[in-house]
Parts: sequence; C-alpha cells; structure tokens
Amino acid sequence: MQRRKFIKDTLTGLPLLFFTPTLLASCRKDDENISPNGKTVVVTGGGISGLAAAKKLNEKGFTVIVLEAQEKVGGRMRTDRSIGVAFDEGASWIHGPNGNPITNLASQSGANTFLTADDSVKVFDTNGTPYSESVLANSESQFNTALNAVRNAGTQTQSFQTVFNSLYPTQANDRLWKYMLSAFLEFNTGGDISKLSSKFFDDDEAFNGEDVIITNGYDKVTDFIAQGLDIRLNTRVTGINYSNTKVNITANGSNIEADYVVVSVPLGVLKNNAITFTPALPTHKINAITNTNMGNVNKFLLVWNTPFWDTNLQYIGYTPNTKGKFNYFLNIKKFTPSNGLMTFAFGDYATVTESMTNNQIINEIMLNLKSIYGNSIPNPINFLRTKWGQNINSFGAYAYPTNGSTSANFDTLANEINNKIFFAGEHTEREYRGTVHGAYLSGIREADKIINL
Ligand SMILES: Cc1cc2nc3c(=O)[nH]c(=O)nc-3n(C[C@H](O)[C@H](O)[C@H](O)COP(=O)(O)OP(=O)(O)OC[C@H]3O[C@@H](n4cnc5c(N)ncnc54)[C@H](O)[C@@H]3O)c2cc1C
Repeated sequence: MQRRKFIKDTLTGLPLLFFTPTLLASCRKDDENISPNGKTVVVTGGGISGLAAAKKLNEKGFTVIVLEAQEKVGGRMRTDRSIGVAFDEGASWIHGPNGNPITNLASQSGANTFLTADDSVKVFDTNGTPYSESVLANSESQFNTALNAVRNAGTQTQSFQTVFNSLYPTQANDRLWKYMLSAFLEFNTGGDISKLSSKFFDDDEAFNGEDVIITNGYDKVTDFIAQGLDIRLNTRVTGINYSNTKVNITANGSNIEADYVVVSVPLGVLKNNAITFTPALPTHKINAITNTNMGNVNKFLLVWNTPFWDTNLQYIGYTPNTKGKFNYFLNIKKFTPSNGLMTFAFGDYATVTESMTNNQIINEIMLNLKSIYGNSIPNPINFLRTKWGQNINSFGAYAYPTNGSTSANFDTLANEINNKIFFAGEHTEREYRGTVHGAYLSGIREADKIINL
C-alpha cells in the first residue's frame, strides 16, 4: 500500500545519511560509558515516539522512566501471533523506505521486509468482472487531477467531501471513485472524507521508494528500541502537575517526580482528557487538540485451509456501494506460509464495524469475496480483527487535519510548555504525521530539545 503515492508521486525523500548518525546513536546497546547528569525524565507512553525519546535521553545521561499503560510496549506497533501468523494490528508498512529511519531500525531489530508491489492488483466490480487496466489507469489519473482540484478549491472550513461533491457530483456516487476515495485517500490520511480538511488533507511529506511490509511483526522494532530502558508496564498516567519546579506525575495512584516529562500518548488520549494537567494546558494547545482529529482504520485477517484467489496478486480491490467497506484485500500468502487475506474498513465505516459481531463481519466480507469468486468459496477457519476507535490507549488509528483545522495545529501539538512538558507522537510531526517514522522522529526531536536546554 503506497502511502501518499497517489498524492506525492514526485516527492524526493531526505537522504539516508541525514538520519544515520541519530539512528546509530539511539540504538546503541552498551551504556557503560554513560555518566548520569542528575536529571530525571518521565516518558508517558511506550510507543515508538516515547521509546525513541527515552533511548536518546538515556544515552545522554538522563535518568529515564517510561510509564506505559499496557502490558507491553509498542503502542500502535502491536503484533498478534495467536494464530501462527504475525498479524500487525496497527502499522504494517515502512512507507517510503529510502532515507526512512525505520528501514535501518527494522534491519537492526530482525524485522523482515517484503516489497508489496502496488501495481500487482486487480479491482473487481460487484458482478465479479475485473475493471480493465486501461479503465483503472485512466481513473487513477483522473483521481489525481481531482485531488489537485480539491486542494486548489479547498477552504479551511470545508471538508474534502463538500468540495469534492460540488466539483465532481457524478463521481461522488460512482463505486470505483468511492473505492479510490477510501482505499487510497482515507487509508492514507486516516480521516473520513466528510471530516477531512479540503485544504490541508495532503500537505505532509513522504520518503521515496516503494513501500515494504514487515512480515514477522512490527513489534520487533519497538522491542529492540526498548532494550535496556527502565519501563514500568501496566502503569497508566492520570495526572501531570507542572505548577512547581519539579513535575509531579500521577500513575496508578502513586506519584513520581521528574525534571521533565515527555508526553507521548496518542492525540485521542489527549482529546479524551485521560490525563489531567495542572495547571490546565494553554488555550492554544487545547485548541490544537480539539481541531485535529483521530481517524479510524480497522484491519481484519481471514485465513483458509486453501486459497481460492489468484495467489500471484498482491492486492485485490472491490467496488461495493458503501464507501470503505472491505474493498481492499492484501494477499498475505505472497510473503507468509498462511493462506490469508487481510482486509480493511476505512473512515466512518471503520467505526461501524466496531459494533458488529465477528460473524456479521465475516458474512459481509464473504459477500464481497463471493461476488468475485462465486458462492462456493468456504468460510475462513481463522479470523482476527481490530477496534481502534474503542481502544482506550489511542481512541483511533492516526491523526488527520479536519475541516476547521490548519496544518499549523500539528506544530502547536508539538510545542513544549515551560521547558518542562514536552510532546511527542505521530500527531506532533506535521511533515510525517500518521506514520511510524513520523512518531520516531518526533521522539528524537523532543529528546534533542531537552538535551539542548
Ligand atoms: C490500523 C493502523 C494502521 C497503520 N499503518 C501504518 C503503516 O502501515 N505504516 C506506518 O508508518 N504507520 C502506520 N500506522 C501509524 C503508526 O502505527 C503510528 O503513527 C505510530 O505507531 C504511533 O506511535 P506513537 O508513539 O506516536 O503512539 P503509540 O504507538 O500509540 O504509543 C503511545 C503509547 O502510549 C500509551 N498510553 C496511552 N495512554 C496512556 C496513559 N494514560 N499512560 C501511559 N501510557 C499511555 C499507549 O498504550 C501506547 O503504548 C498505522 C496505525 C494504525 C492504527
């Protein structure tokens, strides 16, 4: 899945050398030569942003304690191996591996990668007929033109959907266009087009190179960074008091004191006021938290005894009437021994799936697959799913700009307060928001701010 390919085809990523020194420094295992500098930093959240900050600060002599609410680190890089295949519930791909800091980290951590060719795809109509290559190529080219048109006509207050529907009323109801709007745009940005900014929906950046997928679990990367750090699992932060010289952090009913705090919990956790700040966060910060949104994307893995699809294909597309409804299938047989397909629910439909039972979901997915492969295909023998919207550790998948927001809101989310409270996380990295590399870079950025005080 080529994140932002359809939007950012011509962008060149930053050269690898730019990141290499930081990377190597932050992944060194030996800490024999580190002399403590007498300062304590508490990092709230053990996702990749928090871990990256913790690692770098630790190497600079800070005493670092990571407080993580869940039973393991990794956050949205979370792998379920319960059915014998590594099902990544959150991130799967390194988007644009050239010059991307995650490429090196993945190789150092033993995470294996596989190039998922985007052009290895067939898209099927509801009667099971594949769209011809020329129709697809033509539509994708028109789709790119439409994205430019929406961006140019977009305003700060109007949603993508409002502007798109006024410019392209016919395409708004076309099933192939709904497929592209969700499997490309909503997957890329995280936001349903009805709430996505028409002006800032794609003003972020991308690294170069075709996307690669991690085949043996993205948690290998976070487990690797976490090595040697003081991490307190099952420790949920509920309060941060920064009214005195030292910062007081409340977690599981106890208090910890620190000189600095890195808040690396997801935007959704901040939006839900799960942490009480004393004094309250400044108004500009609260406005930025309110204006930006957490999008939703859910993933579903289905496994069969034998495959009934063309196992040479990397992707299978489908054009149902409902936007975002199980319209994109990743053939995991291409890179695992498992006879599996992973499908997705995007935008508002992702949230609809969260109140459906497993059987209801399987039935709906099977209806789509039966339209393509016939009624005799069997039900899956194994099924896994996610519910990111209801997940109290993130309240959504990744951050996106809504109508009403500006991209500057993402910068405000990154602003430190009183040189005591620092904010990391994918939602604080305007240029690479919504990605693993964005989250990682945000952690390094905040560690550098503290180191340079
Ligand atoms: C479905 C899905 C698909 C994705 N696909 C990709 C992809 O293919 N490629 C890509 O680059 N990115 C992808 N992403 C985005 C990527 O996973 C995230 O951008 C990145 O992992 C975020 O890291 P983070 O450190 O900012 O946040 P998180 O990983 O969410 O870490 C935050 C941590 O804070 C903890 N926490 C929350 N509340 C508290 C509290 N009160 N006290 C203590 N700890 C707390 C959480 O448990 C979590 O561990 C995807 C995300 C999702 C959900």
